[in-house]
This record gives sequence, structure tokens and C-alpha cells, in this order.
Amino acid sequence: MRRAVCPGSFDPIHHGHLEVIARASGLFDEVIVAVSTNPAKKYRFSLAERISMAQETLASLRGIVVEPASDGLLAEYCRARGASAIVKGLRSSSDFDYELPMATMNRQLSGVETVFLPAESRYLHLSSTLIKEVAGLGGDVSDYVPRSVLKRLLAGEPSPQPQPDL
Ligand code: ADP
Repeated sequence: MRRAVCPGSFDPIHHGHLEVIARASGLFDEVIVAVSTNPAKKYRFSLAERISMAQETLASLRGIVVEPASDGLLAEYCRARGASAIVKGLRSSSDFDYELPMATMNRQLSGVETVFLPAESRYLHLSSTLIKEVAGLGGDVSDYVPRSVLKRLLAGEPSPQPQPDL
């Protein structure tokens, strides 16, 4: 059984994340989507909501488990869950510069490898932060998030900007 972990805060999950998780599920028997919470960060959605959104949108894929990440080291979590790899999507060289030291540290700590998948070009510009900002200002993000996420994102946000009649 080859198992991988896709870690992230997924606040909220978007098509860039989903595309990488789907590709990871083609490479591994089981993919654990580990939803993390950093106490120093403010999240738009609670951990329970972030997990539900991921579960709802990944339900049709085989071999995916969504669960909270542990508070401790990712390397230890991977070892405890029997995962041989961490899968990360890479959008840019700055993503790579950020990820490389963590990948090396994780391998040295527990032998877990990190597999980098180049982000799909349609989603290279996507981040949860940008999606929340655009949605918060009434922009249309329906191409970037699943329907169930869009519904939650729009709850309490201003109505979409009216389009000019052309
Ligand atoms: P964070 O680790 O900052 O909480 P996210 O929850 O936003 O990050 O993302 C989790 C992981 O998903 C990232 O580490 C990255 O590997 C991947 N990812 C994020 N955005 C994209 C994207 N647009 N395309 C592909 N992969 C992405």
C-alpha cells in the first residue's frame, strides 16, 4: 500500500488543490488530505468546515481520506500514518524556494520524500487568499472553486458586481 499525504490549510479548497490531489491519487493507493491549523493564523472557515468542504468535493475520488493534521511535525505525522511521500503542488519558483528546505528537513527527519507536481496552467495564479479577496469584493470565482465552496464563500458577502448591458 503506497500512501501519500497532501497537507494544507485549504481555507477554502479550490480547483488548484483538487487537481493536484486528483493527480496524486493516480500515483498512490491512498492519499490523506491533512487539513492543518496554524494557531498564529486567522482562518475564514473553521477546521470542521474546511474538512467538510474537502470531503464533499473529493467524495467521488477513490482512495482519498480527509482528516485533521496533527499539531506536531509533518514528518512525524507521515511516519505515524505510514505515508512514504508528501505531495505538493508547485505554482512558481518562489513556491519551490519555500518548499525545498522543508522537503529536505522532512526527509532527514523521517525518510519521507516530497513529490512536487507542477500546477496546472489554468490554476497557476490561484490561492485561497486571492479567491477570498475577489469573492469578498463581489467578483465571480465560480470557475475556481467547487459549487459547495462557492455557496459558503458567498454567504454573507456582497452581491456580485452588476455587469454592464452591452
Ligand atoms: P498552506 O500550506 O499555506 O495552508 P494551502 O492550503 O493554500 O497552503 O495549499 C496547500 C498546498 O496545495 C500547497 O502547499 C500547494 O502544494 C498546493 N497548492 C496551493 N495552491 C495551488 C494551486 N493553485 N495549484 C496547485 N497546487 C496548489
